[in-house]
Amino acid sequence: MQFAELGLIPPIAQAVAAEGYEKPTPIQASAIPHVLAGRDLLGLAQTGTGKTAAFALPILQRLAHIAPGRGHRHIRCLVLTPTRELAAQIGESFNTYGKHLPLRTTVIFGGVGMEAQKQTLKHGIDILVATPGRLLDLAGQGLVDLRQLEVFVLDEADRMLDMGFIHDVKKVIGLLPSRRQTLFFSATMPPEAQDLADRLLHKPETVAVTPPSTTAERVEQEVYFVEKSDKRALLVDVLRDSGMKRVLVFSRTKHGANRIAEHLVKESIGAEAIHGNKSQNARERALGNFKSGRIRVLVATDIAARGIDIDEVTHVVNFDVPEVPETYVHRIGRTARAGASGMALTFVEHEERTDWRNIVKLTRQDIPVVEGHPYESRVPMAAPPPPSSGNQRGRGGQRGGGHRDGHRGGGGSPSGHRAPERPRDSDRQAMSAHRGDDRPRDTHRSIDRTPDPRGTVGGGQPRGNPAGGGQPRSDGGGGGRRRRRGGRGRGGGGGGAH
Ligand code: AMP
Repeated sequence: MQFAELGLIPPIAQAVAAEGYEKPTPIQASAIPHVLAGRDLLGLAQTGTGKTAAFALPILQRLAHIAPGRGHRHIRCLVLTPTRELAAQIGESFNTYGKHLPLRTTVIFGGVGMEAQKQTLKHGIDILVATPGRLLDLAGQGLVDLRQLEVFVLDEADRMLDMGFIHDVKKVIGLLPSRRQTLFFSATMPPEAQDLADRLLHKPETVAVTPPSTTAERVEQEVYFVEKSDKRALLVDVLRDSGMKRVLVFSRTKHGANRIAEHLVKESIGAEAIHGNKSQNARERALGNFKSGRIRVLVATDIAARGIDIDEVTHVVNFDVPEVPETYVHRIGRTARAGASGMALTFVEHEERTDWRNIVKLTRQDIPVVEGHPYESRVPMAAPPPPSSGNQRGRGGQRGGGHRDGHRGGGGSPSGHRAPERPRDSDRQAMSAHRGDDRPRDTHRSIDRTPDPRGTVGGGQPRGNPAGGGQPRSDGGGGGRRRRRGGRGRGGGGGGAH
């Protein structure tokens, strides 16, 4: 399908063309006609699928139909979203796609001063993008009047619930007029999200795209078995590959993220860390430096990385293996945005092998093991697996009270492990977007793909260095094929190791 077939009005079509979008993504192709027709919508899609434009474009078009009068503007569209980063990006998208329209958008979120937001609201706006806490604060002060709202968007509903925002969301819903169009987006539909959708939506159309485990199939993946003490050296070593142009490194803890970034800087590799202890300004600065290419590596915790939109991340490095397998899929999805391909490298220490096995089961992929790197783990693959940290935490995957392999207890531990980053009040973001996702954990399907002689992974790009394309061999570490170390170039076979 082409954008022209969607019937977008010229000012919007021009803005879309100026962004360089050639074709609507699947969620856009399916959702836009329903939203334009004024129907309620249940959209099952995660960030990275183009869902923001899927709602922003038709909403702009509907609002543009009746231009704002001369009097005081009132809020005609509210987009409620869980994090400030997402809110900022959605606001930016409305401004970008609506730049030729006489509509005003503003974004409000917590963690920053309220005064500027108050002034903007007083001035009158058409489209409000907000996180729930700050919205309720301002509504409590009589600054947000939603009685004339036409369209309500609940974005990332499952995350919203994971983050404990349900009461706030319900309070916001109480402020909305009953006659309105409602668009509900969620990557997954745990029962609480379904309940909320049932309350909110009236005869909705449902559109669904790319379940998480298929996102992973677009990403070329490799696993390195390595010991904890060697991980930083291994990271420096893999970063010698100049094909790794824009690299997002995931660390489980804030402290770990800082240490990784500091180590890289010492090794003359441009890097910064973002996590919940950094101020909003520091986070934005780091993101800006990463987007502009001033730094090559951004080290992030899962919480900080949630929702941030960075195009063209060439590689994701899982410095720590996530305990919740779905988090792995979210992480590596950061390098395969809107149809692009990408590459993910995962560093697995002995204690993380059980978590790694769970990821292999979830993604049902034959992820090659890189052999012959200088920091290969000497712990035999046949060594008894450590207990899964996920099992110790219990179902649900939330972090409270859990500890891993006996290291992580209450506060701090003798082994120096730190608790993973927890959501802050102003910015609560869950580590797992999939609480309540009750897919069976043990549905390991045997992998029957024949190894690709070029050393590619399921539909991946030709690799830079096909040397020793890897003997298919089962290993106790949970990875599938093995291959000798090669380049990590992405697309077109470039980027051999340097
Ligand atoms: P989202 O899922 O809304 O976070 O979008 C992910 C990324 O895809 C954003 O960087 C968008 O700019 C980009 N994008 C959205 N729609 C398209 C499209 N039709 N073609 C290419 N890129 C797009």
